[in-house]
Amino acid sequence: MQPAPCDLLVTADILLTQNARRDVIENAAVAIQGGRILMVGPAEKIEPSVAPAERLDLGPCLLAPALANAHTHASMTLLRGLGDDLALMDWLKNCIWPVEMQFTPEIVELGAMLACAEMIQSGVGSFIDGYMFETHVGAAVDRCGMRAVLGEGFFAFPSPHFKTAADAWDCFRNLKDHFKNHPRISIAITPHAAFSTSPEILRESFELACNMGVPWQIHAAESKAETASCLKQFGLRPIPYLHSLGVLSERTVLHHVVDATTAEIECIAASGAKVSHNPESNMKLSSGASPVDRLLRAGVIVGLGTDGAASNNSLSMLSAMKFAALLAKLRSEDPCALPAQQVLDMATINACRCIYPLKAPEAVPGAIEPDRPADLAAFRLDDPALQPVHHPVSNLVYAGGRAQAALTMVDGEVLYRDGAFTRIDLPSLLSEVKKSIAWVRKLQGNAASA
Ligand SMILES: [Zn+2]
Repeated sequence: MQPAPCDLLVTADILLTQNARRDVIENAAVAIQGGRILMVGPAEKIEPSVAPAERLDLGPCLLAPALANAHTHASMTLLRGLGDDLALMDWLKNCIWPVEMQFTPEIVELGAMLACAEMIQSGVGSFIDGYMFETHVGAAVDRCGMRAVLGEGFFAFPSPHFKTAADAWDCFRNLKDHFKNHPRISIAITPHAAFSTSPEILRESFELACNMGVPWQIHAAESKAETASCLKQFGLRPIPYLHSLGVLSERTVLHHVVDATTAEIECIAASGAKVSHNPESNMKLSSGASPVDRLLRAGVIVGLGTDGAASNNSLSMLSAMKFAALLAKLRSEDPCALPAQQVLDMATINACRCIYPLKAPEAVPGAIEPDRPADLAAFRLDDPALQPVHHPVSNLVYAGGRAQAALTMVDGEVLYRDGAFTRIDLPSLLSEVKKSIAWVRKLQGNAASA
């Protein structure tokens, strides 16, 4: 048989497919054609079957699906280290919101670019965002080559981008139109949280998401303080409140779900809503430990996220994986809780289902299988921290770090390799970011004197 033509053949010492059998292949090869995976298997089988235009021989590397971030606010990178060590409500109301409310599209784009660089540098290929001026977040995503779902956030009070809910609905339609034919960018409707919105705008925004055929995401049950505020405002805990409004569904992504009862977990599972788990943000804001093992046991798709860099303070999914595993064990007093493979699933295949809740599970990135998008990450195994390799998944989850990130590829295109970005001019990005320090200080001064 004639070898099949393909754009690129990638080979590596060990491959984590994340397919249904979670196959691990030694001396593996992945053939890529038109941004999609054409074939995957042992190199000795794949190599004679394809005629690649290009080859990428990674050698002593662990090749895996690109990691995916199921919850972040990319542009918050510019607020990294601002207002650490505060409780959620104090942090939001007195530290973050007063500065954010003065943000401009330009500053949002710069923060998003920094976030993309940070994520790409640690093997992340896609994320779902929630912020403001998302057209500008999209501009950064478009330039750096990542894949993203953009969520323009809104509250019951005005955002820097629009004054009323009606303006917001127009903004979402425009955002959708703006990225209509973009191969890597789509949108989600993104109310901030129950306590910062109203029943009317939650219902209306959900209806809009249904009409537009897009996901609907919200922070939900993030802390006991949020539950108390929801009870006081609406007479119900966050999950029953959202359920009563009819907004829990397959298109719904709930971020955090820390304070949830067994009945509420069952309600989420029955609705088909997905959940993002953000252990580092929950720990740093002392929001609590999500019952993530119980959510998973109930059949909920739980993806892993970092949350924004102001509450983490890192966008590394590698550290998110380790924290997720350790926190689950600590919370449940069970060392068997959330094993490494389950954590890797949450950072790959499950995170992608949170990012694309409405797509067929087999059509999203997150596994290396024929017909899936060619989003890959590789980590150097010739590194003391990852040797010896008894169990590659364990090494990646418990011992991996950005220092070993060797490759990030999205849509079959290399975005990062061995310390070099292909689309980002890092020195000029870092020089712009440095200038933003004075700018953020000025905003803090404005907020203090307001
Ligand atoms: Zn968040």
